[in-house]
Amino acid sequence: MAYEYDPQNIFARILRGEIPCSKVLETEHSLAFRDINPQAPTHVLVIPKGPYVNYDHFAAEASEAEIVDFVRAVGQVARELGCAQAAGGNGYRILSNAGPDAHQEVPHLHVHLFAGRFLGRMIR
Ligand code: 5GP
Repeated sequence: MAYEYDPQNIFARILRGEIPCSKVLETEHSLAFRDINPQAPTHVLVIPKGPYVNYDHFAAEASEAEIVDFVRAVGQVARELGCAQAAGGNGYRILSNAGPDAHQEVPHLHVHLFAGRFLGRMIR
């Protein structure tokens, strides 16, 4: 089954500048911004700029440059926001929902980064 990307999804609209966001980091191929409904004191979404619906789509079709940029962007957010232990923080959780069983709401790949409180075994 082919991947079908909806260019009207909310994160595509954020990438096009049609909807504002609270930007945390922008790189050549990735954007990080604060979640509109935070589940932790720090709740950031990191997305690739390319049209990928979820992690497996990205892993299959993104270029190596996009993948490296995205992986590094997630780590850079953790360091720059001070939650990475290497930055003196107490840790963080990254999570990506894919498909209906995971309750993915927005069909554009995003990694959630949660931090700023004790997160326990699971957050959602
Ligand atoms: P999902 O359930 O797809 O993994 O998570 C989607 C996330 O996107 C949710 O945590 C939700 O709060 C966030 N979200 C939905 N619409 C917007 C928006 O317009 N702006 C921002 N910053 N976050 C959004």
